[in-house]
Amino acid sequence: MAATYEVNKQLEKVPMPEQDPAARACNFDEVAWGYTPEDAMVEARRCIQCPKKPCMDGCPVGVPIPRFIESVAHGEFAEAYAAVKAANALPAICGRVCPQERQCEGVCTRGRKGEPVGIGRLERFVADWAFEHPDEAAAALGQAEGGADRAADSKRLAGKRVACVGSGPASLTCAGELAKMGADVTVFEALHKVGGVLVYGIPEFRLPKDLVAREVSSLSDLGVSFETNAVIGRLYDVDELLDEQGFDAVFVGTGAGLPGYLGIEGEGLNGVMVANELLTRVNLMKAYLFPEHETPVYVGKKCIVVGGGNVAMDAARTAKRLGADVTVVYRRSREEMPARAEEIHHAEQEGIAFQMLTSPVRALGDDKGWIAGLECERMELGEPDASGRRRPKPVAGSEFVMDADMLVIAVGSKTNPLIANTTPGLEVTARNLVVADERTGATSKPGVFAGGDTVIGAATVILAMGAGKRAASGIAEYLAPSA
Ligand code: FAD
Ligand code: SF4
Repeated sequence: MAATYEVNKQLEKVPMPEQDPAARACNFDEVAWGYTPEDAMVEARRCIQCPKKPCMDGCPVGVPIPRFIESVAHGEFAEAYAAVKAANALPAICGRVCPQERQCEGVCTRGRKGEPVGIGRLERFVADWAFEHPDEAAAALGQAEGGADRAADSKRLAGKRVACVGSGPASLTCAGELAKMGADVTVFEALHKVGGVLVYGIPEFRLPKDLVAREVSSLSDLGVSFETNAVIGRLYDVDELLDEQGFDAVFVGTGAGLPGYLGIEGEGLNGVMVANELLTRVNLMKAYLFPEHETPVYVGKKCIVVGGGNVAMDAARTAKRLGADVTVVYRRSREEMPARAEEIHHAEQEGIAFQMLTSPVRALGDDKGWIAGLECERMELGEPDASGRRRPKPVAGSEFVMDADMLVIAVGSKTNPLIANTTPGLEVTARNLVVADERTGATSKPGVFAGGDTVIGAATVILAMGAGKRAASGIAEYLAPSA
């Protein structure tokens, strides 16, 4: 289908309005402000509605990208929202945090010459527009979802009870899909707030927490119940949920929140912490609003963050905002960094320094047991490893010391073994990842399904959502097989 509007031949994306780097490095307000309706229409018209539409294959939850972009191009924002929301339960979140450069935008035809269409920015725009125009958005959604098939589907799981364990994007998506099919769904969350990494990990300046709360409240509107401070494996185990609490199926979406360490000398010194601790104190416990919120957080003058993923970028930018001078130490080169390109760019703009091809050897302490420096060695890249990235190897005799009074470790995370240890019959791998069918989420234990980071290890929001969506279909088929 050819574009039904005059295509904008501009090679670059419409710039995203955002806070000045110097100002934002001192506050926790959202960095990017989002497109205006005019910006969005101009950007949408960069899409040529190319015949093969590779962007569609690049989206793990199947958002009808060219269709929603066409609606935006015509200023039909409610229709655009309905098209996005039908496929993606959390568009305001995905528009902000998905690694689009490796998904839809990475394969967009416009990216062959110039920049790809700003698909993520447009998704964010329509989701934010819908929050500001709830009645128009709801009407468009109702129209899109109307029809006899939909009504029949909404009763498919009537009378069935499902427990979702954990409240990250995998469980939230699974819960929403099941509630739309009429199931009575309860989400059990170990922490006191719902949202998983979206509330305790990703900082306010990238993902405002009132926005996550709004997405969660739209699930409450669908009838989903939430029980917080409920650690499954302690309060009830999975068998008790099924046998005593009356649930017909359980979805395990407990993530991969157990932090990894470097395993070097000096990790026990004062002033050394894992990124998870820093981010939880600041995001979930609001330490950045001290003294209004009483959570203490240690911040040094010279902070080193070790790692190259989103977690490392978030920790570095958080420490910077709390007043530290921050250097990121990463053992490969910039090309191999797993963090979203935009976050690396923003970190650089905010004045964070990078020591690439560098790896920590040991943390050095002072006579009071506090960290005083980090001994590092230079690395060079060898042959690609199993992940396809070139394996770093130490350069002999290259050791040197960096001053530091704060060290944050952000080198990956693992799954918590609690569910595996308290659920007989649940098959897990040697790394405690739950073994689940990729298509249905079914585990080795009848009635128990799983998805997200707890199955594939630390990954992305959109992959967790895709797994939650597929597991909801698997649970529906298990509880009410289609004819
Ligand atoms: P989670 O979001 O981890 O949620 C699991 C929930 O289960 C948690 O709330 C946990 O408290 C709860 N839980 C655990 N055990 C139990 C139990 N026994 N009983 C009850 N509840 C339990 N991805 C992106 O796509 N883009 C990004 O920019 C990005 N940035 C990130 C930044 C940080 C700091 C981190 C940590 C991750 C980031 N990710 C990002 C990765 C992404 O957030 C995760 O892949 C995604 O949240 C996984 O979703 P999930 O639902 O599987 O698990
Ligand atoms: Fe439009 Fe790019 Fe998708 Fe083609 S690949 S339809 S240009 S967004």
